[in-house]
Amino acid sequence: MGKSLVFIFLLCFFVSCNENCQNQSAEVQEQNANCPIPNPDPDPDPIPDGDVPNEALTFDVNYVLTNFDRGSEDKLLKAIEIIKKVIGSNEFRSKVLNFTFQGKKQFFENKGLSNEEIYQKLLDGREDLKPDVDNQMDLELELYYSWTSTVGYTTPGAMKIYLNSKFYNPFTPSEVAGNVFHEWTHKLGFEHATNYSKERDSTVPYAIGYLIRDLGRQYE
Ligand SMILES: [Zn+2]
Repeated sequence: MGKSLVFIFLLCFFVSCNENCQNQSAEVQEQNANCPIPNPDPDPDPIPDGDVPNEALTFDVNYVLTNFDRGSEDKLLKAIEIIKKVIGSNEFRSKVLNFTFQGKKQFFENKGLSNEEIYQKLLDGREDLKPDVDNQMDLELELYYSWTSTVGYTTPGAMKIYLNSKFYNPFTPSEVAGNVFHEWTHKLGFEHATNYSKERDSTVPYAIGYLIRDLGRQYE
């Protein structure tokens, strides 16, 4: 995958990003936690209800946790329920299939995949390092604390996803859901630039992470 050994994916989330969305440091690039909500076109071609495939309804989440206390685990369980409800919704399907970037139905940095193929890839749950089509997210999550503005990160060579408790603790369950889903799409091979750009919001990790978060709020 990435040519760099220390290729660390970043995640930023939430509210409005203005002057501070420039990258800051080297190895773990700090990212202001306030990044803009992308602006996917509001369903230019809505898909009728009732078309959610069975795999969206049976989508599941398998997880192994490190350094989670009881409260943190409870929040994660709520986030997982939110993810399952959002994935099972026609609204999510419609927003993924109709996502547009530069006037076309596509995601930025989409690995040559159409929106339909990306949607199917999510439902398949086929991580690069766990390449069985098991219809589930396989998560290995570790909480750590850092004063930096890195919300979470993962590396291509391992399943482990690191979540910064500085953000995890104040996050709502739907924010955790979006954050975890963002990181998990990296396990499916989707990438994005470290530095903020408007285009980056249309990558699979960002755009779909935001979708999970935003659609998830109704299930809190
Ligand atoms: Zn990322």
